[in-house]
Amino acid sequence: MKMKIVKTGINGEGIGYMDKLPVFVPDVLADEEVDVKITKKERRYALGKAVRILSKNKDRIQPKCYVQKSCGACPLMIARYPKQLEYKYEILRQSLIKYAQIDPRLIAKPVANEHIFGYRNQCKLPCRSEDGRLMTGMFVPGSNYFHAIETCIIHEPGLENMRKAVLHILNKYRMPAYDVKKKKGIRSLVIRGFDGRYQCTLVTGEDELPDSMLSELCRLKGMHSLWQSIHTSRKSLDVFGSRMIHLGNETYLPLQLDDLQLQISPRSFFQLNTSQAKVLYRTIADMVGGRKKLIVEAYSGIGAISLYLRNKAERIIGIESIKDAVVNANRNAKLNHSDHVHFLCADAADKLLYLSKKETIDVLIVDPPRTGLDDAMLACILQSRIREMVYVSCNPATLGKDLGVLQKRYQVKKIVPIDMFSHTPHIESVCVLNRR
Ligand code: SAH
Repeated sequence: MKMKIVKTGINGEGIGYMDKLPVFVPDVLADEEVDVKITKKERRYALGKAVRILSKNKDRIQPKCYVQKSCGACPLMIARYPKQLEYKYEILRQSLIKYAQIDPRLIAKPVANEHIFGYRNQCKLPCRSEDGRLMTGMFVPGSNYFHAIETCIIHEPGLENMRKAVLHILNKYRMPAYDVKKKKGIRSLVIRGFDGRYQCTLVTGEDELPDSMLSELCRLKGMHSLWQSIHTSRKSLDVFGSRMIHLGNETYLPLQLDDLQLQISPRSFFQLNTSQAKVLYRTIADMVGGRKKLIVEAYSGIGAISLYLRNKAERIIGIESIKDAVVNANRNAKLNHSDHVHFLCADAADKLLYLSKKETIDVLIVDPPRTGLDDAMLACILQSRIREMVYVSCNPATLGKDLGVLQKRYQVKKIVPIDMFSHTPHIESVCVLNRR
């Protein structure tokens, strides 16, 4: 059937309507006229496949990546970059209106990504054997189908070289992909790097890796830190397993962010786009404004935001639930001679409730995972007397829902979207709220 695509969905697909039923169609852009074959019909929505594009969006381009369609990670790569930013803005705007009736004039234009290719500082890829060769790849979204990927143009070029060099050595030693029954083999490859220095984690079964292979890996140019993670659980969705073993070279990976020095352990979260992370941190610093007595950051990870703001307050407290990350963050505070910045290991809502009863918090910064703030956290913030809040979000849907709740006591002042992940539908935003 003929269909006009009217908007972009949160997964980067096009959305058209069949009577009033929304139809999600991958690989098409808003404003395109498409011949669609319905592949699945449910009560509230349908899925479709574009058989032919009848009229193309003028901003449609040939994607630079040869596996763009089959891999599925970069659905917006078929549009010129400025158009991608328009789509992302629309996704954010619609979510904020739908869930929180936000005045769209409060939403700034997205800050563009400085480098739209080669920006990703980390890969976290599953491994499989194909024709006797170990390969990294991706699972096609929503499926169990493994797609081997030779080259990814989103990865920083040095990261790509390192990934290929590591795979080459693993193949030289005939390392097999993970076998669920034997509980042995390579499950995934995690590599993160900045400025030519890389930290690599081999996620394996209960393998004892050959010494000669390890010393070859350690000798690779730029191999700053080498780890193994033992992962034999069938259920866990986490890339890393329960046990970490340091295999060679340094334990931490260093990173310089403006005048801040950080060191990162393999399991800790760090923003995937280093130059846009700086833009994000500078934006947060601007929003916090002048010097404060006490800033609290919930969901603080390795402490990057709190430490970036170290000159903005007499005292800064970060709250983070993963112990490893808290140890990492406190080390980073020492490294930057910041005795007034402390990181506590706790659930964000529990600790914030305790702190907000005991002290006057001038600014609360939250940077939650994609699921947003939980009910306990929302209740705690509403009950507190915290005057100013900065909400950093990587998910427009949960940001919208949370702002809908927070607006009972807080007024949204400004929202700044930042593009960290060009070609994907993801958009980061920073939102300032003042207590009413
Ligand atoms: N602000 C950091 C990282 C944010 S990622 C940075 O800019 O680098 C979100 C962090 O929230 C993760 O480190 C995760 O471990 C932590 N987290 C998730 N749920 C939490 C909870 N209930 N309480 C405290 N921390 C939590």
